[in-house]
Amino acid sequence: MSSESIRLSRSIVGQAEAEAVARVIIDDGYLGMGREVEAFETEIAGFLGVPRDWVICVSTGTAALQLALEAVVEPGDKVLVQSLTYLASFQAVSGARAVPIACEVDPRNVTIDLDDAAGRMSAGTAAVMPVHYASNPGDLKAIYDFARQHGLRVVEDAAHAFGCTYQGEPIGSIGDLVCFSFDGIKNITSGEGGAVVTRDPIAAERIRDARLLGVQKDTEKRYQGLRSWEFDVTRQGWRYHMSNIMAAVGRVQLRRLKPEFAPKRRELATLYHERLAGTPHLTLLETDLDEVIPHIQPVRILDGRRDGLKAHLEGLGIPTGFHYQPNHLLRLYGGGQVALPVTEALSRELVSLPLHPGLNAETVNMICDHAIRWLAD
Ligand SMILES: *Cc1c(COP(=O)(O)O)cnc(C)c1O
Repeated sequence: MSSESIRLSRSIVGQAEAEAVARVIIDDGYLGMGREVEAFETEIAGFLGVPRDWVICVSTGTAALQLALEAVVEPGDKVLVQSLTYLASFQAVSGARAVPIACEVDPRNVTIDLDDAAGRMSAGTAAVMPVHYASNPGDLKAIYDFARQHGLRVVEDAAHAFGCTYQGEPIGSIGDLVCFSFDGIKNITSGEGGAVVTRDPIAAERIRDARLLGVQKDTEKRYQGLRSWEFDVTRQGWRYHMSNIMAAVGRVQLRRLKPEFAPKRRELATLYHERLAGTPHLTLLETDLDEVIPHIQPVRILDGRRDGLKAHLEGLGIPTGFHYQPNHLLRLYGGGQVALPVTEALSRELVSLPLHPGLNAETVNMICDHAIRWLAD
């Protein structure tokens, strides 16, 4: 593959990230979880405008979701989650020994359909996990009203939504437990990585301990360069902490988000919307690009034309994505025992077009030209 080829998504990292990693390796020499992670957590808190102790960095976004769930639900509890999400959302629920209850989405923005979710409530339902699909949190107020009404905890899968706002407030600064991913292609990356942001001090302490095998208050020691040699443990934990190397990358990326990544993603998504609006057989998802920093650019292709368009674009060297295969159809999650007709129909319509800050407007225009021409035939 040549360096010129179009990518669906990619990491935007360079000299500054490399220098930050070199500083950890050469100047500090401590690669595990230490002061660099502490600094990243402090800077994320500053970015979101929340107290320092609300933020807990972990090894992946999936780990963030699993630990957030484990902190607030019991084994066997049920968690309402849209089927149309990345497998990680479902694996985090089952990893926390809870049961994912697959729900429908609103086809206009692919966020959880609360009327459908209400119909799937049962005695064991303990939490709802809204997924901020394509970085759009949907009607977050309605989700929290729904949760309050039914006595549910809310674990937001905000893997796509770092840096976004809801009614002007940063995602993460409002809400119950909010989980971010910093994997290689998300709005910012730490190589791999994730974070939970929560205002609940009991949940925060559980998550902080659980990322280090459940050893109580081990985090404080590690941030002073110390270890716990003798300890007691009361809850199951994991090795889900973040390393100083990852945090060093994340800290640089955090500084690049507002001046560099966010405006570029918004500019390209705005161009897609302007160019593709009104195209026959194509529907754009509803989103507010003043609040959303889009991680992906899915569109709906109607009338059975999705697979044809995909093949056409790919034949021209334009890669496309599919976010996502519905989870309720996977054998681990029932193999389609429940029918979710809206989700299943959407999964035959959705296709994601290239979007990342390394793309330029010329390429997006070219992609739109090809799509519009093929759909007009
Ligand atoms: C990326 C992603 C995750 C998981 O994050 P990782 O850091 O890759 O573990 C979870 N949910 C959604 C919707 C994602 O896109």
